[in-house]
Amino acid sequence: MKLYNSLKRKKEEFRPIEDKKVRMYNCGPTVYSYAHIGNLRSFTFADILRRYLEYTGFKVKQVMNITDVGHMTAESLDAESGKDKMEEAARKENKDPWQIAEFYTEAFLEDSERMNFLQPHERPKATEMIEDMIELIRKLIKKGYAYVINNCVYFDISKFRGYGKLSGNTVEKLKHGAGGRVKKNPDKKSQFDFALWIEDSNHIMHWSSPWGEHGYPGWHVECSVMAMKYLGETIDIHTGGEDNKFPHHECEIAQSEGATGRKFCNYWLHVKHLLVDGNKMSKSKGNFYTLRDLIEKGYSPKALRFLYLKAHYRKQMNFTLEGLKEAEDNLASIWDFMDRLEEWNFEYDNNPKLEELMEKARKGFEREMDDDLNTPGALAVIFDFVKSVNKLMDQKKLSNADSDMVYDLITRFDQVLGVLERDREELPDWAKKLIEKREKLRKEKKWKQADKVRDELREKGIVVEDTPQGPRYRYA
Ligand SMILES: [Zn+2]
Repeated sequence: MKLYNSLKRKKEEFRPIEDKKVRMYNCGPTVYSYAHIGNLRSFTFADILRRYLEYTGFKVKQVMNITDVGHMTAESLDAESGKDKMEEAARKENKDPWQIAEFYTEAFLEDSERMNFLQPHERPKATEMIEDMIELIRKLIKKGYAYVINNCVYFDISKFRGYGKLSGNTVEKLKHGAGGRVKKNPDKKSQFDFALWIEDSNHIMHWSSPWGEHGYPGWHVECSVMAMKYLGETIDIHTGGEDNKFPHHECEIAQSEGATGRKFCNYWLHVKHLLVDGNKMSKSKGNFYTLRDLIEKGYSPKALRFLYLKAHYRKQMNFTLEGLKEAEDNLASIWDFMDRLEEWNFEYDNNPKLEELMEKARKGFEREMDDDLNTPGALAVIFDFVKSVNKLMDQKKLSNADSDMVYDLITRFDQVLGVLERDREELPDWAKKLIEKREKLRKEKKWKQADKVRDELREKGIVVEDTPQGPRYRYA
């Protein structure tokens, strides 16, 4: 399996530190508002990556954090000159930042479930790991990588020789204007040093530390600590959006490697920006969407997930509502196909041609996914396969057993893609009771009474279909 490693600026064969095991860290959400569709694209990629690694037989340990303090409105190296996003949101919503964190963490977990993301094995919150952060900062001070001024701690980037290896923004280049403009902070030895610990008497979320009574950690140090706490000093994969590469990930490398003297992460994977209607997404332009906005407009979360899969994660994707509608139609055609397979009831000798088609589909799917998770390629393989099987069904050249095998293969692909199986609408309790009653009557071979219940269900808008796999119920 090949992955594009931002650190090497090329595709590389993926080799984990430990055979068949993968330690993966995904930069998680900052819970100051609902996740937008750009964030969700990045998290969908992380989910697909984990699922495909598992599909190929790796045992993955996935850690995705919750950032609930210290992520500033300024995301350059002088982030300390900005404001904490959490506290800004609290001020706007007239709540305290802890309430903001709780509310949007809950909202994010709901969105994750709707998007069909697997639960990461660990989901640490930054505010719950302050002790570990203080410990890491102490180590950096002791080793000469960090210094204290006015109760704040800064990382001295001139001391870490590898600075810039991920983003290309070396100390030399920063001096010549790379990495954006930064404000002069008289406390810092160099304007490009970044804050590890910030003392601020007005900050609502605060902790006492060896450097002062009223401080909080910088965003970068949080991720270093949370990654190493659960995955060890060297991890296999670290993901994030391309905007995280600098300064966030560059600083994570400096802190982690400065503290441990070891390589922090072998494969850095970054998801490209998303445009909306051809422009950068922004609230002021009115082209800003959260998952909730799309659900309100009548779109399903699975359609969004499918739309993401139609674009390669390293290509810029242009989101439009028309595109989302088209994704929903594509998905419906697969769901119809799955229904057709389930309902297929035809005696026929097993078709040798089918085995060939299935083998071709499986190999094609794996070839595309092995190539840096080429999901659009994998979908093309699946659509071709669906077309061929539909043709066999039209020609009545597919047996019951064949249709089951095809169904199983698509289900196997869907362990990775997480969209190909239809969302079953939850039926109301009265309907479930009637269904149970009908099942019981059928078991007792009381056909007439069972039919009566079926008619009653139909009158109330629930259709019963008896398939080879048993009865299925859906809204009319
Ligand atoms: Zn992070």
